[in-house]
Amino acid sequence: MKHKLLTILLTLVATLCLALGLTACNFGSSGNTDNDGSNSEQNGEQTPEHIHTYTVDNVCSDCGAEWKYTEGLEYEFHDKDFFEALKNSDESWKNELEDYPYDLSDGAYYVTSVGSASGDIVIPYGHEGKRVFGVAGRTLRNFDPENKIKTITFSGSVALVDLCYEQIEKIVFDRKSSASGYMMFFGENQSLKEIVLPDHMKVIVNHAFQNCSGLKSITIPDSVTGIGDSAFYNCSGLTSVTIGSSVTSIGDRAFYDCSGLTSIEIPCRCDLDQNSGVHGLRRT
Ligand SMILES: [Zn+2]
Repeated sequence: MKHKLLTILLTLVATLCLALGLTACNFGSSGNTDNDGSNSEQNGEQTPEHIHTYTVDNVCSDCGAEWKYTEGLEYEFHDKDFFEALKNSDESWKNELEDYPYDLSDGAYYVTSVGSASGDIVIPYGHEGKRVFGVAGRTLRNFDPENKIKTITFSGSVALVDLCYEQIEKIVFDRKSSASGYMMFFGENQSLKEIVLPDHMKVIVNHAFQNCSGLKSITIPDSVTGIGDSAFYNCSGLTSVTIGSSVTSIGDRAFYDCSGLTSIEIPCRCDLDQNSGVHGLRRT
C-alpha cells in the first residue's frame, strides 16, 4: 500500500513537472534505427465516409473493424482517484480531462514501456477492458532504450503523450482521433522527421517540439487554437509550416532559431505585432 501511494505520488510529481513544461528528463543518446515495422500502414486506411468508433476492445462499434496494435507493450493502471487528483493539480489538466471524450471512472492505462514489443509500435485504444490514456515516456525514460523504433502510431484515445528525448523518426496519430491531446511533448528528439497530429488537437504546448532539429515540415490541424512558447524553438530542419485556421495565439519564441524557415503563412487572426514568436520571419 505504501509502495502504491509512493508510485502515485511520484507519478503526480512527474506529471506536474510535465505540465509546467520543465525539461527534467535525461538527454537521450542518438542511435541507429534499424528495425522495420509494417502494421502502422494498415491503421491509416480510413475512408472519409466512415469514422471508426473504437471500443476498449480495439474494435469499431459500428463496423467491427479491428485496430491492429502492437502486442507486448507494458502498461500501468491508474484509477479514478488518480485522474481526479490530476484534474485538481493543474488548470490545463482540468480542461483536458473535462473534454476527454471517454469515461475515466473505471480508470485507464498508460503505456510505460515497449516491453517485449519490437518493430514499429501501434498504441491500442484499450487494454484489458480500459482506455489507454497516454504514453508516459518521460516519466520512465525508457520507452525505447535501444533506439530501435522508427515509427509510433497512436490510437485516438490518448490524451497524454510524452516522447521527449526519444529517437523516433515518425509519429502518426489516427487523424480521426477524438481525444484532443492537450499534453503532447516531443521535444529534444533529433531523429523526428515527420509527425501527423490528431484532428482534434487543441494546443501545441510550450516546448512541444523544442530542438527537434530533424523535423522537416509541420501541419498544424485546424482544431488547434494556440501554439505555445518555444514550441518549435531551434527546429533548424524545418522548412515548411502550415498553421491551421483556428490559431489565434503564437507564443513567445515559438519559431525562434528555425534557420531553415524562410517564410511562414500566419492566419490573419493572429496579432503578429505583439508577438515575438515569429522573430525574423516574414508574413507571406
Ligand atoms: Zn467502423
